[in-house]
Amino acid sequence: VKPIKIVVIGSGGVGKSALTLQFSKSKFFLDYDPTIEDSFSKSCYIDNEMARLDILDTAGQEEFTSMREQYMRLGQAFLVVFSVTDRKGFEEVDSLIQLIYRVKDREAFPIMVAGNKIDLQNDRCIDQSLAQELVQRHQEFNPYCAYIETSAKTRLNVDLVFHDLVRLLRLY
Ligand code: GDP
Ligand code: MG
Repeated sequence: VKPIKIVVIGSGGVGKSALTLQFSKSKFFLDYDPTIEDSFSKSCYIDNEMARLDILDTAGQEEFTSMREQYMRLGQAFLVVFSVTDRKGFEEVDSLIQLIYRVKDREAFPIMVAGNKIDLQNDRCIDQSLAQELVQRHQEFNPYCAYIETSAKTRLNVDLVFHDLVRLLRLY
């Protein structure tokens, strides 16, 4: 099976590594090194079809160097993560999606937006409706864009967010 290249992007501390490691290794880390950028591989059946996912967990996303654009060029599907407890991270989502369109030179591309850390209900500052509105704006011209809320800590929707991203890619 040919591997699917998935790139995980988003602000620092939102849970990119936590989601990637929970999905690929079923482990949750409290203090995973925020500067580590690494790839993880996982094979699974999605709708009775085998998929091999090659997931690049990026770090230090704030600078858009040419190297970053390079790996974005190789990505076939993107997981854009923010934390529902972090307004600044949410505000970066739109420009990250715009960057994907620019690097891909396309206005429609498989993009899953994950609102992570929903287990921290008392610290929540981004409503589900606010994130949904943002994604709906993109869906007007990009039908391969979707939103799912996750908790890397409790594993809520962790498989779903990756599986649905593969489903979007299969439709693309
Ligand atoms: P990254 O910089 O985006 O890779 O963020 P990390 O995955 O390193 O996570 C940053 C911090 O948030 C770590 O302390 C994680 O344990 C914590 N974290 C990540 N996801 C969740 C989550 O869903 N719930 C909670 N409560 N903490 C999380
Ligand atoms: Mg990380």
